[in-house]
Amino acid sequence: MADLYVDGAWRKPMHGGLRHIHCPADGRRVASVSEGTREDAEDAVRAARWAFDEGPWPHTPERERGAVLLRVAELLERRAGDVARAESLDTGKRLVESEYDVADVVACFRYFGSVAGTSPGRVVDTGRADAISRIDYEPVGVCGLITPWNYPLLQAAWKVAPALVAGNTFVLKPSELTPSTSVMLMKLLEEAGLPAGVGNLVLGAGSEVGAPLAEHSYVDLISFTGGLGTGQRIMEASAATVKKLALELGGKNPNVVFADADVETALDFALTAVFLHSGQVCSAGARLVVQDSLHDDFVDELVRRAQLIRLGGPFDDRTETGPLISAAHRAKVEEYVATGIAEGAVLRCGGRRPDEAGLDEGYYYLPTILDECHQGMAVVHEESFGPVLTVERFTDEDNAVQIANDTEYGLAGAVWTQDAGKAQRVARRMRHGTVWINDYHPYLPQAEWGGFGRSGIGRELGPAGLDEYREPKHIWQNIDPRPQRWFSG
Ligand code: NAD
Repeated sequence: MADLYVDGAWRKPMHGGLRHIHCPADGRRVASVSEGTREDAEDAVRAARWAFDEGPWPHTPERERGAVLLRVAELLERRAGDVARAESLDTGKRLVESEYDVADVVACFRYFGSVAGTSPGRVVDTGRADAISRIDYEPVGVCGLITPWNYPLLQAAWKVAPALVAGNTFVLKPSELTPSTSVMLMKLLEEAGLPAGVGNLVLGAGSEVGAPLAEHSYVDLISFTGGLGTGQRIMEASAATVKKLALELGGKNPNVVFADADVETALDFALTAVFLHSGQVCSAGARLVVQDSLHDDFVDELVRRAQLIRLGGPFDDRTETGPLISAAHRAKVEEYVATGIAEGAVLRCGGRRPDEAGLDEGYYYLPTILDECHQGMAVVHEESFGPVLTVERFTDEDNAVQIANDTEYGLAGAVWTQDAGKAQRVARRMRHGTVWINDYHPYLPQAEWGGFGRSGIGRELGPAGLDEYREPKHIWQNIDPRPQRWFSG
């Protein structure tokens, strides 16, 4: 049974809690893990505080900290198969997707491991001969890292790697639905030589383990990925202690297709944009915004192809996409679709559970397309986080940009056109943290990820992703100090 990792030791939770993890593809039990409580969170925060204030990690040369990350990357690469399998069992996603995720995690650790020591600070011109000035970067302190269930290991890596290289200590709180690969990650960190107390793992529910991290006066920063409502609760909980916050929240991402696009490629990507991982992707292209003159042919063909998508379990080679994470989540998706139809959306395909034998034990939902949608509908402006595509029409470039930006979120979006000038103009006007031109979904550890608007605060990955975990400190030195005589006495 997987335990909690606190102060360099694996231990049982104080109140002996236990949680069974079930695979969403068939409901069978795939793991049993310790279930921590508020007291365990307290213990882990104290360990992280001590390790930061008294331990060697914040003062270890950055290159040595980076070397630990590079060792983790190497170890993870060797165990990639086991880790990917565990990720698929917890999340129900296709094994090949989990394998991609693990490869991305290795790349993330390699990136942050290799930037270690490359930005030691900067000298500032004081404009004076008698003073020198420089900016140093110091770790923020104790970080509470709270992650969701859709990309459990990847989201943990995006936080753990920069937090460590910057010299922080942390308490990681993964989603209670998908803890297995976070346990594996902590084992790799231990094996890679992370000193005791620097990395701590507490499993458990958000209200029991996550909330105390946000409230605690010993925690200096919360980096959270998850839903908007939870992010807002974390902001409130951390207000009293004025914590630094990095929030990666949801998205309602427009995939804008002009009539002059390469239609075959745009069709192919429109499907992956929304139906990858059954739409449980924060950057999913869940809003198709298509030019009027292309609309009918494009949507007809999309509907035909969506109906061919094969649902199934993670280890079946024929599976093209998997189940939703839980019965409760599927019920939420069903409600969004029902409300959308009641508000006037036209159901073109899906809109129900599959009736294929063998899928009835899992939380499956058919790829769904709702046509003739508009921003007034909840299914268009709120995250359903399921395999649901809404279709909106636009007339011209200005109208496309207006619809693409008509969302309180601003995480990601795409524009499809063969007119390079138009592509650049539209991409620049879209108020989203990532914009793809004639593509969908790629990202790089070297490039910032994050959102405008209510998609969050701050960035992950890239140089700005590292800066979230560093405090710039200005050090001024007067090299020829003399009395100033500002006051006459
Ligand atoms: P969630 O908000 O329900 O939970 C996320 C994490 O927060 C979990 O670990 C949960 O236990 C914890 N939590 C719950 N209540 C808490 C509280 N009061 N205090 C502290 N922690 C608490 O999100 P989810 O359902 O796990 O994930 C889906 C959401 O994540 C979607 O909205 C999706 O868009 C978002 N997401 C965003 C990104 C991004 O990069 N912007 C990436 C992945 C997922």
